[in-house]
Amino acid sequence: MNSDNLKKNLLSLFFSYLLLVTVLAVISYKFFINDFISLEQKHNKNSIISFTKMMDNELSNLRNIINDYAKWDDTYDFISNANKNYIYNNFREDSNTLKDLGIDGILFVKTNGHVVYSKYNKNNRFSSFFKKEFELFLMKKLENEDEVSTLLNYNSKPFFVVKSTILQSDFKGEKRGHIIAFKFLDKKTLLEDSKALFNEIKILDKSTQNHKNSFIISFENMKTMKVFSQNSKGKIISFIDFYDFKNEFALTLQLSNNSLIIAEGEKTILIFCFISSIILLFVFIVIYKNQKLIINQNIILNEKVEKRTNQLTRAYRTLKSKNKELYKLANTDFLTKIRNRANFFEQSIKLLKKSNKENLSFSVLMMDIDYFKKINDRYGHSVGDKVLIKFCEIVSEIIDKNMVFGRLGGEEFAISIIEKDEKSVEQISEKIREKCSSTSIEVKQNSIKFTVSVGTVFKQSKYETIDEILHKADELLYKAKEQGRNRVIRSL
Ligand code: GH3
Ligand code: MG
Ligand code: MG
Repeated sequence: MNSDNLKKNLLSLFFSYLLLVTVLAVISYKFFINDFISLEQKHNKNSIISFTKMMDNELSNLRNIINDYAKWDDTYDFISNANKNYIYNNFREDSNTLKDLGIDGILFVKTNGHVVYSKYNKNNRFSSFFKKEFELFLMKKLENEDEVSTLLNYNSKPFFVVKSTILQSDFKGEKRGHIIAFKFLDKKTLLEDSKALFNEIKILDKSTQNHKNSFIISFENMKTMKVFSQNSKGKIISFIDFYDFKNEFALTLQLSNNSLIIAEGEKTILIFCFISSIILLFVFIVIYKNQKLIINQNIILNEKVEKRTNQLTRAYRTLKSKNKELYKLANTDFLTKIRNRANFFEQSIKLLKKSNKENLSFSVLMMDIDYFKKINDRYGHSVGDKVLIKFCEIVSEIIDKNMVFGRLGGEEFAISIIEKDEKSVEQISEKIREKCSSTSIEVKQNSIKFTVSVGTVFKQSKYETIDEILHKADELLYKAKEQGRNRVIRSL
């Protein structure tokens, strides 16, 4: 791997990192956010139950107060005998009674439907027209009821209403009339009452009716409330449908809050993803550093291998040339630089084999310098050496490179020749002999002459060995010596 690959790897590592982080973010959001949503839903459901319970309690309080009034003997007395002191004592013009009781209006009604006395909370500026219409609506709605506490809606104005029969405190006596008390619900007070639960409330006249996921809450006074919740932009919006005592739809409250749990969840997921991405980044950096380290080590290793290979190549070359030298040394005669005995035999055997295989002629010339001992004795051993060297030069000039020329030992030499007829071989032999005898070697004012005797033999059959052929040549050479030397004797 080189640095280009490393760059590519860095890029792919970077993209894999981005991909992993994205996948992590998407998956963790998909998996965890639902948990937070369902937590928020549970929390929301509890808030709705608390909220509606609070409303029901408020209505209960109103009912209890009005029941107290209705069963009070003075009230019974007032409705029966129109005792003005009752009104003066309880509801005189500048009194805060209604405000203190948390009531927007109270009606004292005879059994025949005649309103004996009505009073509205002075803080509410209801027009007399409104009052008249509203009272008519109430009378009609609660016409046949003696005891009611419920939530109603009049022209988009929802309100609690309690109707109670005026009886004597011992609950005996004739039914003389009713007290009807009401309290309007406005957005502001609802919000104030439920501060901890919701931060947005809307009053709707339309029902969100019968959604299949809706559930019903029922309390003492408000017997039916259908609740439906939905998620919208990370918020949970709930719709509560309120029904009156006749189970007729009254109004819907739309409630929502800032969905703290979901927001908290998103924050938690974000922190989780952030921490995970940092861990991932760390892992990727470690991987990258490791790759870099491996690459650097590879480079160092490669350099070392290359250096070692070069060293080996050099050593191999040296060894090869030394081997060559060694081979030459082992196969060359030290003095004359021609083939030694071993190499002569080795190469001659090859030639013989070739001649057998290809049916070619094969001949051997065995040569021995005449009276060589005498040359040594007369001029010294070193002059003898010079004669040997000169002899080899003469022969080398005469023969061609296909012929195998070697020193068998001392002043004895041989030549193996392939593919030459008898005449050519004889000519070569004669040429050698003749050249030797006509050559003089000048050493220290001495002109040294020498001659050579040659035995020339031709292979007769392909079953003859090199030893047998050389032996024959040796015999012919012996003959040449016997016949006076400086001559060539060849086999017939
Ligand atoms: P002939 O004519 O019968 O061959 O007689 P010759 O004297 O040549 O033969 P002989 O075998 O009696 O003598 C060979 C001599 O060659 C003996 C030896 O000292 C000498 N000789 C052998 N090797 C070398 C060499 O390398 N250098 C020198 N200078 N002389 C050598
Ligand atoms: Mg000799
Ligand atoms: Mg000899």
